[in-house]
Amino acid sequence: MNASAGTANPGNAADVIVVGGGNAAFTAAHAAAVRGRRVLILEKAPREQFGGNSYYTAGATRIAHRGLTDLVDFIEPDERHATTDVPPYSPADYAHDLAKVTNGRNDPDLTEALVNEAAPGLRWLHSLGLKYRLMYERQAYERADGTYLFWGGLHVGNVGGGEGLMHDHVRVADQLGTEVRYGQDVFGLLTENGAVAGVKVRQDNGIVEELRAESVVLAAGGFEANRELRRAHLGPGWENAKVRGTPFNTGQMLTAALSLGAAKGGDWQSCHSTQWDAFTPGNESNRELTNRLTRQSYPLGIIVNRDGERFLDEGADFRNYTYAKYGKEILEQPGSVAYQLFDAGLRPMLRAEEYDMPGVSVARADSVEELAARIGVDPERLAKTVNDYNRSIDVSIPFDPNVKDGRRADTMPPKSNWATPLTTGPFYAYAVTCGITFTFGGLKGDPHGRVLDDRGRPLPGLYACGEMLGGLFSGNYPGGSGLAAGVVFGRRAGSLA
Ligand SMILES: Cc1cc2nc3c(=O)[nH]c(=O)nc-3n(C[C@H](O)[C@H](O)[C@H](O)COP(=O)(O)OP(=O)(O)OC[C@H]3O[C@@H](n4cnc5c(N)ncnc54)[C@H](O)[C@@H]3O)c2cc1C
Repeated sequence: MNASAGTANPGNAADVIVVGGGNAAFTAAHAAAVRGRRVLILEKAPREQFGGNSYYTAGATRIAHRGLTDLVDFIEPDERHATTDVPPYSPADYAHDLAKVTNGRNDPDLTEALVNEAAPGLRWLHSLGLKYRLMYERQAYERADGTYLFWGGLHVGNVGGGEGLMHDHVRVADQLGTEVRYGQDVFGLLTENGAVAGVKVRQDNGIVEELRAESVVLAAGGFEANRELRRAHLGPGWENAKVRGTPFNTGQMLTAALSLGAAKGGDWQSCHSTQWDAFTPGNESNRELTNRLTRQSYPLGIIVNRDGERFLDEGADFRNYTYAKYGKEILEQPGSVAYQLFDAGLRPMLRAEEYDMPGVSVARADSVEELAARIGVDPERLAKTVNDYNRSIDVSIPFDPNVKDGRRADTMPPKSNWATPLTTGPFYAYAVTCGITFTFGGLKGDPHGRVLDDRGRPLPGLYACGEMLGGLFSGNYPGGSGLAAGVVFGRRAGSLA
């Protein structure tokens, strides 16, 4: 990486302007600032809505490592470490998972950088003041003997989740002398002598300014919060998806860069979407509930649509490898609604922060037929679905949520793991719809974050990172890779910009 600082031009607003104020933006800003660059972050949201999608996250970050002993130098101490098994997760495992969930559509060069540099990236951020820990509540079930086994290749997260992550970033930026301006709606790019030379920005009070810099790093998210662009690129119906995160990622800087000659990168037809509380008021861009509106314990139960039918394999893989594509499956069901069903035996295993959320959309009844009536599903139809499912399970295979246990429901569609008959009342139905997280299409960039044109040539002075850099994900996504990608490519862009 090029670590040398550029020469400051006093006429410029900064050496480096970073557009956006999420994880990728702040990471890029830190990398530029530690090189001695004068950095200005321009964030569209008002200060009280800071942090982009990154604020809404659980802070879960996928990195390669050699097991717990390899992590202890930068994660917070925890007395449970002594009884915890964190299986090693190699760069090759990481690359394999990316290829598996995208059906091989992941860009190989971006992948190589991501899988090798996510862990060093976190160590570097930790050295600046960010805090990490093992995510016991999300990625491990306590076993009967009191020990823990982590699963799903996703083990480390930020202390305080996404909120903690973004508070840490803001503090570090302040320590490094980076200026952050909020309420800055950047809508265009300035060019001079064939190079990007700054941005056009409209402020909260309507005043339009031109701000100059030697380099511009775009870290302004995807187009997930733009209904028209969603419908145009993802297809009809997507305008009805609920926005899980920030309302400010409307794709404006993607449009600005494309109109300057940047090439599209990655898959513009697909996105990350999850099962999301269907009916609770305020189920979009909710800064109090953030990620608690997600419903992620579905591999333990079954999911039915309004016709009382199952329509997917709830146990196809660990949740980390299926959750980001199942939002789309729900969107395609009648009324874009479905119900996650559990019985009294499974209920205590559901992730508390989500299923005990204040205002959670849930129906509860002592029998399956009564439950069906409460959710407006034909009782006979639902009872038949549950009975068929229950009868198809080979219960002689032991149930173990920490491994892919092969305890299958041999029905249509099958459930490949963790099948448990729903027999004991009360029964619970959690209503879910499709929540869109972020779009996979972005700008074409090289692994250094340089934005490329249609002929593969860098647009001088222009960099992209985070959701704006396309090419890593398509159709699906391994949990925790979004923040990791922001760290790796934000750091790379900030090391050159
Ligand atoms: C509820 C939820 C939970 C998630 N959980 C996880 C998780 O645990 N782990 C994980 O890896 N990923 C998770 N993700 C995905 C993750 O949020 C993203 O992959 C990642 O945060 C993207 O970072 P970013 O910096 O590119 O974008 P963002 O954090 O969204 O930052 C983009 C910023 O750009 C600003 N902006 C947009 N347009 C303009 C403009 N024109 N001018 C100026 N500023 C602009 C926005 O206001 C925003 O602040 C989750 C997402 C959501 C919504």
